[in-house]
Amino acid sequence: MRWSNLRINHEFYNVGHLYEGAVAHYQATGKRGLLDVALKNADLIDSLFGPGQRRDVPGHQEIELGLVKLYLVTGEARYLDLAKFFLDERGQTDGHELYGAYAQDHLPVVAQEEAVGHAVRAVYMYAGMADVAALTGAQPYIDAIDAIWQDVVARKLYLTGGIGARHEGEAFGDAFELPNHTAYNETCAAIANIYWNQRLFQLHGHAKYIDVLERSLYNGFLAGVDFGGDRFFYVNPLAFDGDYRFNRDDSRERMPWFNCSCCPTNVVRLFPALGGYLYAQRDDRLYVNLFVSSQTTAMLNGERRHCPANGLSVAGTVRIQIDPEQPVHFALGVRIPGWAQGTPVPSDLYHYLDTQKQDEAVQLRVNGAETPLQIQDGYAWIAREWRAGDAVELHLPLPVRRVESHAAVTENRGKVAIERGPLVYCLEGIDNDGRALDRTLADDATFRVDWQPDLLHGVTTLRSHGDDGDLLFAPYYAWGHRGLGEMVVWMNREAA
Ligand SMILES: [Zn+2]
Repeated sequence: MRWSNLRINHEFYNVGHLYEGAVAHYQATGKRGLLDVALKNADLIDSLFGPGQRRDVPGHQEIELGLVKLYLVTGEARYLDLAKFFLDERGQTDGHELYGAYAQDHLPVVAQEEAVGHAVRAVYMYAGMADVAALTGAQPYIDAIDAIWQDVVARKLYLTGGIGARHEGEAFGDAFELPNHTAYNETCAAIANIYWNQRLFQLHGHAKYIDVLERSLYNGFLAGVDFGGDRFFYVNPLAFDGDYRFNRDDSRERMPWFNCSCCPTNVVRLFPALGGYLYAQRDDRLYVNLFVSSQTTAMLNGERRHCPANGLSVAGTVRIQIDPEQPVHFALGVRIPGWAQGTPVPSDLYHYLDTQKQDEAVQLRVNGAETPLQIQDGYAWIAREWRAGDAVELHLPLPVRRVESHAAVTENRGKVAIERGPLVYCLEGIDNDGRALDRTLADDATFRVDWQPDLLHGVTTLRSHGDDGDLLFAPYYAWGHRGLGEMVVWMNREAA
């Protein structure tokens, strides 16, 4: 029977994905076939659920995101209203029997202040709340979503940008509960974190959300898929003893499929959407968010302009070329990542340990001339009249950084992790005489940085040199490609 078990069955989750797929298909092809199917389905649900009709909520959120997209392509306000209805009904005992904190159905959404329960359900819901907040301006929504984000970023975020500490219930843990071997960190949850932070950026225009998005994208998410693109981790721990069957379906290597197939299909929809995360525009402001070889075209003050930006080179240089058809005045905002300013995450959950003096600073040049950094909301702003051939060059220092956790993360006490730029590094046994878990890194160990084109499809490795011998570090996203063996992100620290 349809709609007979909304708590457990995933009808609304599935049709939400259908709506999103239909909108993407329509935007990519201009064809309405699948979009009309989605609209017919949404109209059916809208005819059954809502004020004065059946009042219930999805056990697994997702339809909210799809309905917002249907609203954005059709302009039909009832789709936005239905999304808001499903959100507003959560925690309302007079509408349905509550499904509890596992499904974020323990309190009205505007009264929720902490991230609880099943992580993917939760963060799809938070992303939907951010959509509704942005489109309606509803301040209680904005207040709630900001408080929950603060809870995640300050207490429940893995260094890799993964979320969801517990296997049991695929759920967020308590504050600072961030175990490494048994971390859940579902690939879908990292993807949800990307969706949510992109929407919060679009709502608030602050680069700190892109800092979290970038961390999730290049680490917690990317580890979930292998280099061939056809094998997946559902679960993404930060330590592995070579034996524990952490991955779904009792596996411990990347798998081609799962009995619950959410992560592979979610990866498939994130990759083609990546282009949408690089730039953003609001009025006469153009934002450069991620440093990826690319080009884009935008209308600014009525002028078309092209902005090909190259990726972040191994040496830390980003080049952006601007080619307006006519000279045009606008503000270019180039994101200055937190990691380039001594702040790995926008909270005190993690901090850089190294006290070694950094000689290099962030440098910005416009047409070769050094330009003072005018940072606002995490962006260096350059407002001027742009002409064809203008070039911006950004230099971001990429030192090897040691990271320490907030003292309340008991699992990481006395431990240190290594980062360089946006990448989290790990130790694998295969590179270190079979042993990773018991390794110790001294505070005074030095590092050599090597680009290795033939290792793991090309990675920059870090080799530390200290009293305990040499250790070889590789990017976390590339772990688990060379057989079963130990892996660790947080290693023992030998303090100076
Ligand atoms: Zn999943």
